[in-house]
Amino acid sequence: LQEVLIRSVELTSPRLDEKNMQFDVDIVRDVTVMGDFNRLIQIFTNLIANSITYSPENTTVTLRIKENEEYGIVEVEDQGMGIEKNEIARIFERFYRVDKARSRNSGGTGLGLAIVKHLIEAHFGKINVESEVGKGTCMKVYIPLKKSN
Ligand code: ATP
Ligand code: MG
Repeated sequence: LQEVLIRSVELTSPRLDEKNMQFDVDIVRDVTVMGDFNRLIQIFTNLIANSITYSPENTTVTLRIKENEEYGIVEVEDQGMGIEKNEIARIFERFYRVDKARSRNSGGTGLGLAIVKHLIEAHFGKINVESEVGKGTCMKVYIPLKKSN
């Protein structure tokens, strides 16, 4: 996963720089998962792009790699506007955008997270969202570990 995150950081850093934001990359130990390199990159560039879009300037996007018995885990955490509890279930729907974000940002189709969810499911993984309005959001992505035997 380390290589995937490094590439995802490279691809998104121009937009991050534009907003005077920074990455904090916390990789204690690399983890190998079962996945397609380019599709994994698509997942994390989408999540990072959202963190950039929905955060104010001069904030940090933190990336962490973890693991449990079954999964390699990547956390993408921001210090952005957050998502209301009752909206969290809906953000993975196609074309769904939270109202405030829609009026504030002209771009965006609302497809990003629908694609992310589809790609994660294609890897037999899952995604979990923790968010607090006004504080930030943490997206946790679980991808099955590659068993070395
Ligand atoms: P695009 O298709 O360009 O990605 P989008 O970013 O609006 O458009 P999604 O990525 O699917 O669409 O996200 C859906 C909605 O979820 C966003 O419009 C936004 O309201 C909310 N959202 C997603 N990520 C975050 C985040 N990190 N912080 C706050 N809100 C978020
Ligand atoms: Mg998006």
